[in-house]
Amino acid sequence: MSPEPPVTGLLDRYAEQAGLDAIEQLRQLARLLTGLKVVHVNSTRTGGGVAEILDAMVPLMQELGLDTSWEVIEGNEDFFTCTKSFHNALQGKSLDIPPRLLRAYEDVNAMNAERLRPVLEEADVVFVHDPQPAPLLSHCPGRRGKWIWRCHIDLSHPYRPVWKYVRRFLPGYDASVFSLDAFAQPMPHPVYLIPPSIDPLSEKNLPLDPETVRKVLEEFGIDPHRPMVLQVSRFDRFKDPLGVIQAYRLAKDFVPGLQLVLAGGSAVDDPEGEMVVEDVRNAARDDPDIHVLSSGHYSDRIINALQTGADIVLQKSLREGFGLTVTEAMWKGKPVIGGNTGGIRLQLVNHRTGFLVDTPEGAAMRIRYFLTERHRMAQIGQNARELVRQNFLLTRHLREYLTIMVALIHGNEDRIELG
Ligand code: UDP
Repeated sequence: MSPEPPVTGLLDRYAEQAGLDAIEQLRQLARLLTGLKVVHVNSTRTGGGVAEILDAMVPLMQELGLDTSWEVIEGNEDFFTCTKSFHNALQGKSLDIPPRLLRAYEDVNAMNAERLRPVLEEADVVFVHDPQPAPLLSHCPGRRGKWIWRCHIDLSHPYRPVWKYVRRFLPGYDASVFSLDAFAQPMPHPVYLIPPSIDPLSEKNLPLDPETVRKVLEEFGIDPHRPMVLQVSRFDRFKDPLGVIQAYRLAKDFVPGLQLVLAGGSAVDDPEGEMVVEDVRNAARDDPDIHVLSSGHYSDRIINALQTGADIVLQKSLREGFGLTVTEAMWKGKPVIGGNTGGIRLQLVNHRTGFLVDTPEGAAMRIRYFLTERHRMAQIGQNARELVRQNFLLTRHLREYLTIMVALIHGNEDRIELG
């Protein structure tokens, strides 16, 4: 007998945000998987996108009737130094990793396997997230389930020697999942592409009352009664903050009173970020309507308030992974003007769900267009929200995980009844 799924009302809360249809699709697929033991493994319970997704997704899977657990591997300093280097090298940095650290990586995985083996070998499906726990599979010879390597990082241009090393832990997996076509590498098993998602129930994405929004804007000296253009992102040259300032200046000639907010800290391990902030501050110096908010990583509540309070959101990246800030703003019904690159292209459809631009001049033209054609701005904002509802919410992300599980578990059957 499979255990009764816990009833917490979580599915109802998701239905309120994502729509009943999204929940019905999940229920339909989950019926084929009821009672299966599913284990997610990653390397941290808090901090970072993966932990955030699992935090929301694991309870949802439980409520759908899957016997789901989340295990975290325990590492030492050498282990985390090694995996941080993997992260940088796999995303393109030429960086050789000393054998001592590679040994720590393998030893930590072997030690964690001792502790986790009973759970992992028993599981029907194991999702191993990112390179940190990848070697666990080789320590579970008695595994009976399907193992999926879920890669959240951009493997488009890995530093070859490090990728060659990490890759050796992967052939035993039954499938891999990458976030975007551009991020993927060829694998000796099926590769699935599942784009990232946002959680509509997180503090960053739940609707905020106008009073809270007004207070946050005023806290930062932003006038809630004048039009405001926002870009939220790390201070990184690829996010083109100077291009944003240029676009704002060009637009301001036609839209008096326009304000610009650039919000987001630089990563702690990014000295280049400090220089970018400095350049941005210099470029903004003569204009009190440019607000540079650069003191660290702002909380979900603040980001939510800024995005909700903005008239237009820019993400004028010159290079981008997926661009979650675009998704977050679209979900709030904002018209977004984004750089014509990476995952921004999957989200912004010119004239329908936003605008793609290649230059500051292009961005300025679209800012003017939106602020003079307010009805179009509202229509595009609505389309944007619907595009996110259908494609980039956590519920869709989970639906695709369930679909892969159905394919792997029922793949050998003559017929699989989905409906
Ligand atoms: N973010 C945040 N506080 C900040 C700056 C950014 O919470 O001060 C969030 C932002 O809301 C988004 C994420 O960090 O969810 C950035 O993701 P994105 O894909 O846009 O860019 P990345 O930084 O991964 O290149």
